[in-house]
Amino acid sequence: MKPVTAEPPLFGRRDPDARGYFGAYGGRFVPETLVAPIEELTAGYFAARADAAFRDELDRLLRYYVGRPTPLYETRRLLEIGGSARRTDDDRSRNPPHVHQERGTGAAASEKHRAADPPIRIFLKREDLTHTGAHKINNALGQALLARRMGKRRVVAETGAGQHGVATATACALLGLECDVYMGSEDMRRQALNVVRMELLGARVRQVDAGSCTLKDAINEAMRDWVTNVADTYYLLGSALGPHPYPLMVREFQSVIGREARAQILEQTGRLPDVVVACVGGGSNAIGIFDGFLDDRNVRLIGVEAGGERIAPGRHAARFAGGATGVLHGTRTFVLQDEAGNIELTHSISAGLDYAAVGPEHAWLRELGRTEYVHISDAEALEGFQMLARREGILPALESAHAVAYTVRMAPDLPAGSVVLVNLSGRGDKDVQSVIEALKLS
Ligand SMILES: *Cc1c(COP(=O)(O)O)cnc(C)c1O
Repeated sequence: MKPVTAEPPLFGRRDPDARGYFGAYGGRFVPETLVAPIEELTAGYFAARADAAFRDELDRLLRYYVGRPTPLYETRRLLEIGGSARRTDDDRSRNPPHVHQERGTGAAASEKHRAADPPIRIFLKREDLTHTGAHKINNALGQALLARRMGKRRVVAETGAGQHGVATATACALLGLECDVYMGSEDMRRQALNVVRMELLGARVRQVDAGSCTLKDAINEAMRDWVTNVADTYYLLGSALGPHPYPLMVREFQSVIGREARAQILEQTGRLPDVVVACVGGGSNAIGIFDGFLDDRNVRLIGVEAGGERIAPGRHAARFAGGATGVLHGTRTFVLQDEAGNIELTHSISAGLDYAAVGPEHAWLRELGRTEYVHISDAEALEGFQMLARREGILPALESAHAVAYTVRMAPDLPAGSVVLVNLSGRGDKDVQSVIEALKLS
């Protein structure tokens, strides 16, 4: 057997083919007007990737500005049975009773694992502790640096809930780039605070009143702007999605998560994890952490999608549960669509997971049998959120709470002594209002 080292296999080892395909997925499905801008971007990206000075500058910013490496933290009480995690009457009077249901997780764990068994160890990769509070800054900074290297003075981006918009506005402020963020009017209403944040950071927020007035429509508008202004404008896409080279480039900017996590878990446990768990919206935080372990065949890689209310058209965003192969925003992948190929509406309590398509590399890895995908409902994610808050003192983003909830759910079925690595993609301050509303309603 090859010895396990802290260094994951080489940077850029799993590039898609020259046309941007990961197996049957990916590619470049764009109108003619976008071909030239995308070729310019591809050339610019590959040049930057080969440039040690570019990587040094990015590493420096990740370290001193973003706050990397982020800690790897071993949970203390997440799987604890009873104790103050299961609080009693005084607590129950303040909150709806369902909040305290344990869904059998704790009890089942105690049946299957006797007290003498080595406990299951759960480690959180703390992307919530980055500057701006989520992994999105890793990609936003990388691409903003690329924009500057390519001689662009202006950046356009799309945003749904506003997290990617805030990360992009931050990176542009830092690097002195002009910034326009397209956002659906419905999302602007729901995420008014993030609109203000972006404006305070010097970005212009452009309201989109087309279609469902949400993320999908904002992406269309951002692409339109890019085509029109390509001479001085860079399009900064927020997840491992879209036409080649975006899925590759975003993966590479997020793979710092997996590189760090791999070295940290080896240092803290002396071995690789048995399971890595991450939530999957477009798929960037998941591909970033999976990337560190892809060649370690004994490490299970599990992506958690948004199961929403239930798996029925319009009620969820679990592409691998209800989707089929199709094309959205320039890439061939799994898409939620009806039989005529129209994109379905999606729903999730977490805005960051609420998208009809998934990054093409995930579709490919799943087909190869290397990764697995599951889904967690809104209600379960809310429980995960509260569990981590009460038992560890961490408010996770609702997106990340999906990964936490699945980890707790599967723990009783893991062999004693298993080591689980969970990507805590972001912090939950942004979600407090949604949580309050959801708990009131249920
Ligand atoms: C945007 C977001 C996600 C989902 O995006 P991916 O590209 O799938 O990572 C997950 N977690 C947080 C905190 C986010 O802001």
